[in-house]
Amino acid sequence: MNHNIRYKGILHNVLNDAPFIGAIIIAYNCHMSCKDCINEHLKKDVYTISNSTSEIIEQVKLNSLNEGIILSGLEWTEQPDDLVELVQAALADNLKVMVYTHHTESDFFKIVPELRHRSIYVKFGLYELSLKHDQYFSHAVKLATTNQYIKYYGVEMINVDD
Ligand code: SF4
Repeated sequence: MNHNIRYKGILHNVLNDAPFIGAIIIAYNCHMSCKDCINEHLKKDVYTISNSTSEIIEQVKLNSLNEGIILSGLEWTEQPDDLVELVQAALADNLKVMVYTHHTESDFFKIVPELRHRSIYVKFGLYELSLKHDQYFSHAVKLATTNQYIKYYGVEMINVDD
């Protein structure tokens, strides 16, 4: 599969949003309306663009500092087929993957069961304003509210000489 994917843009060489240096690929929408959402402007003020999966992955790889993709900005579970295709294409190209979602673990894998056994990082949890925190980390990534967390599905690489 290599269909056209709608998205808002790519930010390269992002250091702090995943346990690797990655390219943020911004989803084209999010129908939630969380108070104080820092990405609200992306919904109306940024044009939606469209490219094939392979063209998007190629753009990420052209920037050699990118170790992987970070699917965030808005909500990729609102375009589940695109989410699955991007994750599978990135993993096939040996790129690391981080997905941000406001869903719980069980809801996320109901939407995209194809990703259940893939080696990816996922950030779960809604932006709960009352749980906002300045120094809360998960997998060494600073998260906005303490109900959120990151989980890695896969085998962590270990050095056999250790
Ligand atoms: S789920 Fe995330 S992107 Fe969507 S409105 Fe809430 S904070 Fe913003």
